[in-house]
Amino acid sequence: MSNVKIRDIRAILTEPSPGARFTVVKIETTEPGLYGLGCASLRTRPKAVKAAIDDYLRPFLIGKDVADIEDIWQSAYVSSYWRSGPILNNALSGVDEALWDIKGKMAGMPVYDLIGGKAREAAAVYAHASASTVEEVEDQALGFIEEGYHHVRVQVATPGFATYGASGGEARDRDPQDGPNWITTKTAPADDRYAYAQRAGVFEPKPYMRSAVALLERMRSNIGWKVELLHDVHERLPTILAVDFAKEVEPFKLFFLEDLLPPHETAWFERVREQCSTPLSIGEIFNNPLEIVPLIHGRLIDFVRTRLSPIGGITPARKYAAMAELMGVRTAFQGPGNVSPVGQSAHLQLDLNISNFGVQEEAIYNDLTKEMFPGSPEIRDGFMWSNGEPGLGIDINEELAAKYPHNEEGGGHFDNVRRADGTVVRP
Ligand code: MG
Repeated sequence: MSNVKIRDIRAILTEPSPGARFTVVKIETTEPGLYGLGCASLRTRPKAVKAAIDDYLRPFLIGKDVADIEDIWQSAYVSSYWRSGPILNNALSGVDEALWDIKGKMAGMPVYDLIGGKAREAAAVYAHASASTVEEVEDQALGFIEEGYHHVRVQVATPGFATYGASGGEARDRDPQDGPNWITTKTAPADDRYAYAQRAGVFEPKPYMRSAVALLERMRSNIGWKVELLHDVHERLPTILAVDFAKEVEPFKLFFLEDLLPPHETAWFERVREQCSTPLSIGEIFNNPLEIVPLIHGRLIDFVRTRLSPIGGITPARKYAAMAELMGVRTAFQGPGNVSPVGQSAHLQLDLNISNFGVQEEAIYNDLTKEMFPGSPEIRDGFMWSNGEPGLGIDINEELAAKYPHNEEGGGHFDNVRRADGTVVRP
């Protein structure tokens, strides 16, 4: 009991950079000037999340004691009877993170302190080296190493085919807030705010596998072993080819191979484990405990790569992380440029506290975003640093945010990638 109650809740939608369609929840309290922020960013369906917050969670939660985070999480989670899913969990995450922000402010502590303190000074982040040729990827990776990064994800275009995470056209600059998916290529039309790295085009698994293996060979032969390499398959391979691919990249000793399988085919991880020791990560589109719990319990993966908002925020993430610690599994929370700085601050709180932290995906925010979100985590020398301020240590300039509403033209969908025969491939 704190006698401080939830006075109001609302969703704030803003897009300070193309594709960075943020949804931030603001909880105001009965204590003048005391409020909290949380991230509910689901860039493909933000209006549905907003409705879940403003129309359903708001009336359910007004008047509740801000101290009771666990009770609020549990009661809100079952208040819809049907639960989980990216819409409801993102909405719940916005509330949950805002309540942790408030609790930290009331205690005068950063959230990482509130939950036990630091296990490390800063969180190692990985950078994205993505280009149309192996030479360009190598140049980018060398640049990151020069900047102090110890972890680099490498993706290269497959000549003549659509590829996840790298342009098949001209080389691209490293644009601020590029997630692995978002690009502004020199070949994309200037007014196309929703050009995707993978482009609409034909994907075929074997050409992709060959180009990815050639890239990793080049990285190890030219750059050597002074950097950890990561690679994302993005669920695109048929299952037996996924097993084959994990075996084939084993000699390159990746930090992890990401999303080798889609959520509904993860039983195949057992086959992968029988064949090789390539470290595996998965989880960015997970939104139900049934997806991640068996993989942790069975020690079938090495990194929990969930994003906090689609699983419901800090409260459930702490539990998954603790379970993973006991099973010898590490974390690698998803944090591309479409996670708001509020969400990335929440990731950082856990990254600093949990003992089984592995790595954090970095988001590079542009100057406008940093102005809009004072206190955004700083990335320096390949690490993300906290400002040590109470709560999540971040604020929002709502007037500025209101000037950059979501661009509705994109429709929020991923362009479909297809096989040569027209069959849809996972994004
Ligand atoms: Mg990914």
